[in-house]
Amino acid sequence: MAERLYASPVTCTVDGLAHLVNDAALAAANRGTYTAMCGHSVVAAPMVSPIGRPCERCAAQSGAPQRPVSGRGRHRPGLGRWRPGL
Ligand SMILES: [Zn+2]
Repeated sequence: MAERLYASPVTCTVDGLAHLVNDAALAAANRGTYTAMCGHSVVAAPMVSPIGRPCERCAAQSGAPQRPVSGRGRHRPGLGRWRPGL
């Protein structure tokens, strides 16, 4: 079975884009910066900030289709759906 790679969008305060950061890079964070799949050094925006426009270079690296993330029902890939009360 092929190993599955999970990545989460992390919005960067420098360029405002939502870059994809895989689990290994999230665990290896250095003072709030993460290395995105595109190679960009992401300075993470506060979690309460709205998510940025998806980084095209990260999308190309991941092979995932690019979909805008907005409004109700958004969730972060790899983290599952948020279900209040569970
Ligand atoms: Zn990127």
